Amino acid sequence: MQQITVIGAGTMGNGIAHLFAMNGYTVKLVDVNRDSLDRAVGTIAKNLDRMVTKGTISADEKAQTMSNLYTHDLLEQSEIEKSDLVIEAATENESIKLGIFYRLSQMCKPEAILATNTSSISITKIAASTNRPDKVIGMHFMNPVPLMKLVEIIRGYNTSNETAAKVVEACKRLGKIPVEANDYPGFVANRILMPMINEAICTLQEGVAGVAEIDTVMKLGMAHPMGPLQLADFIGLDVCLSILHVLHEGFGNPKYAPCPLLTNMVLAGKLGVKSGEGFYNYTHGTKDLVVANRFK
Ligand code: NAD
Repeated sequence: MQQITVIGAGTMGNGIAHLFAMNGYTVKLVDVNRDSLDRAVGTIAKNLDRMVTKGTISADEKAQTMSNLYTHDLLEQSEIEKSDLVIEAATENESIKLGIFYRLSQMCKPEAILATNTSSISITKIAASTNRPDKVIGMHFMNPVPLMKLVEIIRGYNTSNETAAKVVEACKRLGKIPVEANDYPGFVANRILMPMINEAICTLQEGVAGVAEIDTVMKLGMAHPMGPLQLADFIGLDVCLSILHVLHEGFGNPKYAPCPLLTNMVLAGKLGVKSGEGFYNYTHGTKDLVVANRFK
């Protein structure tokens, strides 16, 4: 593999683009929103600067990484037809993803692998919108992508052994640790994580304890590096809500029903770090965690 395309330049897309560009791949980063692309390039440059300062990479390596990166606000065949692998990291919305995969399968070379970074949407369903279900697979990177070692590799019903083997190999070459899972709602990571986050939000809603107290219990008591409410802010509350809907509908089990407080926060535009406020406030410009006024 030499050239890859990343669709979506948000939280995850910029990290995936950073990772591949730093490992010598030519990366075509595509987003419908020019601002997202500009922000992604700025974030990648800033994160590379930090690595240069720490001595992890040289200034030349930073320059080489940036020169491997190309941004596009239109999905055009001429730009992506040479890609060996496409990783879709667009908004967690089924109809958006089905539309993207339908178009990708028309535009990409027949041997290209089409991967999705979805947190929860069925790989089998996404694959069914393409002309190559054997070459569609889940590559679920963790946030922040350049730092987190795990990649959950999810085989759809028709994913071939060859596709899975190529993707596992690519992850290893990037220094990641791939773990394979089958295609059921939430796969492994979010099937276990999201009910915990949802329960933390219900615990807050019922007044059992406050934001800082819930997070402190889970950090100190369970040795989690970050409490569940801070983690929810970091993932994005809209992303958490979408995943819980997929679990709830996919299993038909009321235990996955999203907590009404989570739904209200998303409706109110309080999405966590990306909107400046969730359970904590992120607009104050310091590194200290400040509980949002609503929960004080
Ligand atoms: P995000 O909201 O930060 O970014 C999504 C980007 O997709 C936006 O820039 C948007 O403009 C773009 N987009 C929307 N429709 C598009 C289209 N048709 N073509 C191209 N670009 C389009 O979202 P995110 O948090 O980066 O999540 C992206 C994917 O990664 C989702 O499937 C999510 O479930 C998954 N994921 C997220 C996390 C996380 O911690 N945030 C972790 C693992 C996986």
